[in-house]
This record gives sequence, structure tokens and C-alpha cells, in this order.
Amino acid sequence: MPSATTHDVTVLLIEDEAEIRRFLRTTLPPYGYRLYEATSGGDGLAQASARNPDIILLDLGLPDMNGTTVIEKIRAWSTLPIIVLSARDQEQVKVQAFDLGADDYVTKPFGVEELLARMRAALRHANRPMGDAVEPVCTFGDLSVDLGRRQVFVSGTEVHLTPIEYKLLTTLVRYAGKVVTHRQLLKDVWGPLHIEEGHYVRVYMRQLRNKIEADPAQPRHLVTELGVGYRLRTE
Ligand code: CA
Repeated sequence: MPSATTHDVTVLLIEDEAEIRRFLRTTLPPYGYRLYEATSGGDGLAQASARNPDIILLDLGLPDMNGTTVIEKIRAWSTLPIIVLSARDQEQVKVQAFDLGADDYVTKPFGVEELLARMRAALRHANRPMGDAVEPVCTFGDLSVDLGRRQVFVSGTEVHLTPIEYKLLTTLVRYAGKVVTHRQLLKDVWGPLHIEEGHYVRVYMRQLRNKIEADPAQPRHLVTELGVGYRLRTE
């Protein structure tokens, strides 16, 4: 159902595939999004600065430049949310896109519901500056995290986490709904000197899942984003 809260949100779509532009042209406006279209990186950059949209949807493979270059140039002057539209075989570029400041991604072909959920999450983050971005108690289904008291509950029962596990979880809570890259987790949880130690994340994520997931092999909360990082699921 179209949502009243998304009225007048302006979206700049930078995408050279006519089919995807046509799809979004028909699906987004009924939800209250006003869509602007650019078919090249150059046009996208020009429109981004001219229109200052609320959110950008960006294809990574553009005719005149890589989408990553577009992200780099936009991040030089703006923190507006950027959602990457990526092909399935673009793992490496996708990670690069996150390191340059992309907010999230959807993999083609994507459904409109998935895209709308990503857009809502990205816009929510954009509207609330870091620091007061989260409520003192955050609840995600049977998982509840009390940031004030530093307590974690699963189905009402307190779960005891080590300091690293707790930091890992609260980092994902801070970016709830969004992908957090391995690199970002290493930086936020272990510090900038450890950003090459990818195995830290895997080891602690396994421990954390064992403590908070009903079935750690089929995680409902801490979802793996293959080749990119992890996401705390909110919907
Ligand atoms: Ca393309």
C-alpha cells in the first residue's frame, strides 16, 4: 500500500538500462516518490548537484564511468543516501562501493518491495544524525537490546555477551536494516589497526549467532550479505 510518510521524497535514478528506468518510473511514483532520471554518470552528477535529491539509486556499470566514481564525487560534498543497483557478478565493485560511502544495495533483478524497504531504511538513517540514531531499547522480533543498561534479551531472557560480542551487536544495531561491511565492523569494533583481520568478524559473528539466534545455521537477525558483510534485519 502507498505510504503517506514518503510524500515528496525526490529520487535520482542513475541507470543506463531503459528497462529498469521504465520499471521504476511506473512503480515508485504511486508510493509518493518523485523520480528524476539520468542515463550516464556525468548527467547523474550534474543532476545530483542541481536537484539535491533526497536519495540516489545508482547503477554501477554506466556508459561513461564506473558507479564507484559517481559515489566518490558525490561523497565529496554530500552525505545523501545512495543505494547501489548491482548485478550478481559485481561482488568486488560492491565492496568498493560501500567503502566509498554507499548506504545499501539491491541485486538485480529486485522486487519493488525490497527496494522500498531499503529506501525507507536509508532515508530513516539520513534523517537522524548518528548519535541519537537509535532508541535506548531496540527491539527486532524476539531480540531486544537495551543500550542504556547494556543488556540483551532473547524472548525476554537475558543473554550474556562478551564485550566484543556486545560491541559487534550494537554496531549492527546502530546501522539496523543496512549492510555493514567487514571492514566497517573491524574498524568500529576492533579499531582501525585491525581492518585486515577479516577472520575476527567471522569468529565472533558465529559466537554471537549461537547466543541470539534460535537456529544459528539459519539466522533470522544477523544476516550474511555474501562477500560484503552483515545486516541486522529489521523487517
Ligand atoms: Ca548499466
